[in-house]
Amino acid sequence: MTKNEQNRQLLLVEDSKSLGLMVKNKIESSLALSVSLAKSFAEAKHLIANQQNHFFLAVLDLTLPDASGNEVVDYVLTHNIPPIIFAGKFSQKLRDTLWQKMIIDYVLKENPQSIDYLLGLVRRIANNSGVKALVVDDSRSSRLELSNLLTIHRFCVYEAANGMDALPILEQHPDIKLLITDNDMPKMTGLQLTKEIRRRHAKEELAIIGLSGSDDKAISTQFIKNGANDFLSKPFSHEEFYCRVNQNMDLLEYIQQIKESSNRDYLTGLYNRRYFFEMGKKLLASANRGHLGVAMALLDIDFFKKVNDTYGHDAGDQVLKSLGAMLQRRFRETDIVCRYGGEEICILVVNMAGESIFDVFDSVRENIARTLIDLGGEKIQITASIGVCLEAKESMEDMITIADKMLYMAKACGRNQVRF
Ligand code: GH3
Ligand code: MG
Ligand code: MG
Repeated sequence: MTKNEQNRQLLLVEDSKSLGLMVKNKIESSLALSVSLAKSFAEAKHLIANQQNHFFLAVLDLTLPDASGNEVVDYVLTHNIPPIIFAGKFSQKLRDTLWQKMIIDYVLKENPQSIDYLLGLVRRIANNSGVKALVVDDSRSSRLELSNLLTIHRFCVYEAANGMDALPILEQHPDIKLLITDNDMPKMTGLQLTKEIRRRHAKEELAIIGLSGSDDKAISTQFIKNGANDFLSKPFSHEEFYCRVNQNMDLLEYIQQIKESSNRDYLTGLYNRRYFFEMGKKLLASANRGHLGVAMALLDIDFFKKVNDTYGHDAGDQVLKSLGAMLQRRFRETDIVCRYGGEEICILVVNMAGESIFDVFDSVRENIARTLIDLGGEKIQITASIGVCLEAKESMEDMITIADKMLYMAKACGRNQVRF
């Protein structure tokens, strides 16, 4: 089992069969996780004992035919499976006992929004997996507590005892997404640290949550004005801490999604022209400083109008999607495959060392001509013509002009061929 698969198995313990199945289906269909359902404590133990299972998370009902709620919670915790409690009612006393046990959260079943909340929480925990967080606090015990809380929510946690020590850790791990910092620390305060970090890391890439035990009410506004995303007054409950962390991580994720979709073509999922020029210019500048080799190809489907006319516009869309997926698989992540226009795709390849650029594109052409595209019953074949600009030129526009000329030649000479 790969590590990825291990992070996708969830244990659901629920004795009501209908509710159990409903929750299982919702989680599986909306989150691409695999859910094992146990209707009793005995079944849960059996599933956990199975060597094939590696649960990253448990969702637990507390009223089971064969055990008290506490027993089940303790059992999963001793097996290092963090639990979300999903129960009918919670007295304040029960809530306090549960929070002392280091649970992820509790969700009230009766609430109509509860399933959505549960789904959001499960998605959050699944997405946190491997995300790096940094805890900065001079108190060892408080650092340990924060670090534990984040570890239960599956973050990969680093620690620093003051602002000065935090900076090199951030430098070493620029992909840290969450930083929790106390304010009152020797050498460099949390406020100074926040100010320093914001010179390099934007708010939408690294969330900073400031903490302070001081009575000075101005600290919270100071944190926000200096670039923190959020602030928590000490002491705070686990529940409050998690609310802030989840909210901030959700926000980072939404912004990431919006950014990502603004760079992509809606139909094919390939990069769009805007991104192509933005990134292409940077790559080209690097190439012209002698750091990279680049080449550009313009690919155009042959007689695509006929596909639309014969099979309909939806079929044409399907062809574009399949071609896009195929090209995305064929090229490396450092290359840029872009939907340049209707049925034109532009590809900027980087450092194609050791391979002849012509051979690469000719094999792409051959592959397209050989592939049967399934239109849901009917299978069709297409061909494409490709024009290539073999080396870096002054500008992206210059390279495209050359690739376009070559494409025109490929079309004029009979199509289904590569020209450079
Ligand atoms: P050639 O071999 O000369 O390239 O012929 P062609 O028919 O492929 O070229 P032409 O430029 O005459 O026609 C391109 C067609 O692509 C016309 C247009 O309707 C179609 N097209 C452009 N964008 C889309 C799209 O998003 N979906 C579908 N289904 N068709 C599209
Ligand atoms: Mg065409
Ligand atoms: Mg065309």
